[in-house]
Amino acid sequence: MSNKREQYDFLIIGGGIFGIYAALYLAKHGLRTCIVEKEKELLKKASIVNQARLHSGYHYPRSVATALMSDDNKARFTADHQPFINSEFEKYYAIDRFGSFTDSLQFERFCEYLKIQCKPVLRHPLFNYHRLETLYSTIEYSFDPILIAEYYRQQLKQHTDKIEVQLYSRVEQAEARGGQWVVELSLLETGTRREVEARQVINATYAGSNAINRLFKVAEIDLMHEISEMAFVTSPQVKNLGLTIMDGQFGSLMPYGLSGILSLSSVAYTHHKVSYDNLPTFDCQEENPECRPDFLSICSPCPARPRSNYRKMIGQIKHYFNEEVEFHYFSSMYTIKSKLKANYIDDGRPTEISILNENPRFYCIFAGKINSIYEVEKVVKF
Ligand SMILES: Cc1cc2nc3c(=O)[nH]c(=O)nc-3n(C[C@H](O)[C@H](O)[C@H](O)COP(=O)(O)OP(=O)(O)OC[C@H]3O[C@@H](n4cnc5c(N)ncnc54)[C@H](O)[C@@H]3O)c2cc1C
Repeated sequence: MSNKREQYDFLIIGGGIFGIYAALYLAKHGLRTCIVEKEKELLKKASIVNQARLHSGYHYPRSVATALMSDDNKARFTADHQPFINSEFEKYYAIDRFGSFTDSLQFERFCEYLKIQCKPVLRHPLFNYHRLETLYSTIEYSFDPILIAEYYRQQLKQHTDKIEVQLYSRVEQAEARGGQWVVELSLLETGTRREVEARQVINATYAGSNAINRLFKVAEIDLMHEISEMAFVTSPQVKNLGLTIMDGQFGSLMPYGLSGILSLSSVAYTHHKVSYDNLPTFDCQEENPECRPDFLSICSPCPARPRSNYRKMIGQIKHYFNEEVEFHYFSSMYTIKSKLKANYIDDGRPTEISILNENPRFYCIFAGKINSIYEVEKVVKF
């Protein structure tokens, strides 16, 4: 192990969009951080494997708190990421005639409460009104996760004086000593170890949150996890258009940012496996010893990932379009989606930043929505 113990103001564990945004925010305030990322590259998990919906609140008729938080951050996120936002597509929400948890009246009242547009559309040539109780024209944007990831990689390159990125590394142990965190890292490329010191630590590892909380001997957060598949399709008839069916075992089709491809998800078929353990524990990990509940790998290239449900997802979404509309499968990406167990019933997705140790400080960011990257500014003190 190298004898020199480097000192930082903040050690940030997790190089997704939340960890990177926190580092950039701290750099603006003159603070030195080190981002520790277990993969060989940054931004390979939930920050790119998602539906790219810039939430305005529509999605959460059962969680007004999440709906309001989404809308709060939307304007700032849009302004800060303008070149990567698709704000030009037609976006529809609809209520299925069968098995919906929400009916048209409830949905309209909810939108009215949030003051977000929801105009009934009585005729549209692309849709199948035999299945739709009501179709609404709404305003919702999509961000481009791949372009945003590239933007943040470039941002980091401009702040190398303040931010060090330590890729392909693992936290081996951590200890509070004299008001600082002393953390031992192993660098997986070389098999060497180094010790670092930081005044504060931010855990931004999302699905990996509790593994890091355990290493730092702080409280765990109650999580559940799902191996999720985001399918990507194209359609000759449906171009820059999105449809989300509320609110039950339904699905959603959205432009994936500016890519020209549509992302497709379904409550019934996107989530392949569920783990109710605090550390994501799945039977497929037995086939891939690299991926462990306390040290998760990237799902998309994993040979043990579940078989794609794209046919079922396409079959489901086609019910809501007229018979001429075709969808062609392009590819799928997989990742672990984690949720707070407390939101099991209301389906809310708040972003929660908890202070799990006071002196020295340890924060755990558990991110519900990409546009809530700014929440860190409200909680982290230096
Ligand atoms: C299927 C799906 C659909 C979604 N749809 C949307 C949507 O439409 N709109 C929206 O706003 N949000 C959506 N979300 C939520 C959003 O994607 C997440 O809230 C957000 O990406 C979390 O970002 P993050 O930086 O916290 O996590 P991540 O991007 O997962 O980054 C965490 C990083 O920590 C690293 N890490 C993990 N463990 C360790 C460790 N032990 N040591 C070092 N590094 C570690 C990981 O390798 C990873 O790079 C969706 C999420 C999923 C999964």
